[in-house]
Amino acid sequence: MVQTEVLIIGCGIAGATAALQLARNPRRQITVITRASDPRESNTRYAQGGIIGRGPDDNADLLTADILAAGAGASLPLAARILAEEGPPLLDEVLVGTVGIAFDQAADGQPIWGREAAHSRRRILHVGDGTGQAIASGLIAALHRCPNVTVVTDATAVDLIPFPHHSRDPLTTYRPITCHGAYVFNSREASVQRYLAAATVLATGGLGRIYRNTTNPPGARGDGLAMAHRAGARIINAEYVQFHPTALAAPGAEGFLISEAVRGEGGVLLSPDGRAFMATYSPEWKDLAPRDIVARAIHHEMEAHGYSHVLLDIASRMPADAIAARFPNIYANCLQAGIDITREPIPVVPAAHYFCGGVWVDEGGRSSIENLYALGEVSCTGVHGANRLASTSLLEGLVWGHRAAQHIENSLHCAALSHVPDLADVPCWDSRGLVAEPDPALIQGDMQSIQNIMWHYVGLVRSADRLSRAVRELRHLWNEIETFYRATMLSDGLIGLRNAVEVALTVTLAARHNRHSRGCHYRQDAVSADGNGLI
Ligand SMILES: Cc1cc2nc3c(=O)[nH]c(=O)nc-3n(C[C@H](O)[C@H](O)[C@H](O)COP(=O)(O)OP(=O)(O)OC[C@H]3O[C@@H](n4cnc5c(N)ncnc54)[C@H](O)[C@@H]3O)c2cc1C
Repeated sequence: MVQTEVLIIGCGIAGATAALQLARNPRRQITVITRASDPRESNTRYAQGGIIGRGPDDNADLLTADILAAGAGASLPLAARILAEEGPPLLDEVLVGTVGIAFDQAADGQPIWGREAAHSRRRILHVGDGTGQAIASGLIAALHRCPNVTVVTDATAVDLIPFPHHSRDPLTTYRPITCHGAYVFNSREASVQRYLAAATVLATGGLGRIYRNTTNPPGARGDGLAMAHRAGARIINAEYVQFHPTALAAPGAEGFLISEAVRGEGGVLLSPDGRAFMATYSPEWKDLAPRDIVARAIHHEMEAHGYSHVLLDIASRMPADAIAARFPNIYANCLQAGIDITREPIPVVPAAHYFCGGVWVDEGGRSSIENLYALGEVSCTGVHGANRLASTSLLEGLVWGHRAAQHIENSLHCAALSHVPDLADVPCWDSRGLVAEPDPALIQGDMQSIQNIMWHYVGLVRSADRLSRAVRELRHLWNEIETFYRATMLSDGLIGLRNAVEVALTVTLAARHNRHSRGCHYRQDAVSADGNGLI
């Protein structure tokens, strides 16, 4: 059993920022856990394009307007304004000042501002095309310098500890649902411990891995969302899963992201026979239209003409040495897959990329469960609405990580957070009956079934028939997996499978419920926005 003041689950940009900010008070005890063996492993690590700063001819009003426009009318204006006002100064203070990240600069020492889709200004700061790697490494190094932060690796949160659900006292039923920590599986020792905390922070990232084609690494399977859902937290906007238009379509390298910054630097999408098609779909923005429009345009081209992929041409738009210097990782990864991007176009397809919905939180990162906060991709602050503007998610993790830490600090300071409950009140993990060895074939097979269902029926283009079919198949899988889970010894893979089916069902039910097409939720059978025909 571990007792701590603040338990942070996940150490991507959101969790790590919150921990760093809390650690400024030397009296605080913060425990950060991650399921990975390397604490840098997260979606944050793979971010390529960059993070929004305050460009030279830019201001918070312009950024707010771009976020709201990309969000397709579903972004919360207050949240967008908070991000636009607080984000760029925090980037300077935390990432540059405290963490020491050196964003790319020109010879005169001025930042090099990148451009991405649906941004009206050049405002993206980057470290080559490995911005996430620089941020993840810098943040973890900074955490290791904090004596009051303990980082525990190979530690997978299994479930939250919400009262009344886990309480032995029947009278807690009459109090608001309150989180007191989490049950955590140590995969090195194969044992489960109780981590009790005054405040618990979910910062577990997204769920791209529930789809067959995705840019996300294996850990992005919706663990935090599933735990919050089981604990009774309010989940919103779950139908809005963003598909990135351009993932590499080369055998053995599927899902590798070709950053939007490539189109920002002049890259153009072409059909396999060399036709530039984006002007047909978005005369104003062309290749730099919002992601949902570009991804659907590619999907439509592929479906209408039977293409297996489309092409992205940067080779004829930028000098070869400039391409290799600006996009060293993309250049090297494509070369490894047999494609020289300085000489030939890149084969690309859309892939699941970002979860715009999540655990509902307020401006301080508080969820609907007492003492439970959610930050970053697992949360829904309202910033992204129905479609995320490029390069806003790292910034959102930074801003809400900072805000939640301030809220927790204030609450601990004035003793507003309920105290850690009496230990006797929190049952130990009950592993009786969990005797079967986890069968990797079952785990992998069921995971692939979930991914195929989500890709075909809950993908870029949806309909009532497809969604209903997905609900039926996912419910069946949910029952199978839950039965298997109740009889099997825990493993990280089994925990992930159980969570994946839970969140796949959550996304699908939300998508079936919402019969309006908006942003990245597109239904062939959409009803009109005025509600006519709604049943
Ligand atoms: C290929 C790629 C490129 C991207 N490019 C950009 C970009 O250029 N700009 C931008 O703004 N955004 C980009 N994004 C999105 C952005 O990277 C993510 O949205 C963001 O990093 C999420 O941060 P996070 O802290 O919320 O979660 P993550 O960084 O994913 O961190 C999640 C953490 O939770 C841990 N975890 C998960 N489950 C458990 C569990 N059960 N128990 C314990 N620990 C757990 C993980 O190990 C990890 O430490 C990109 C994403 C991808 C995949």
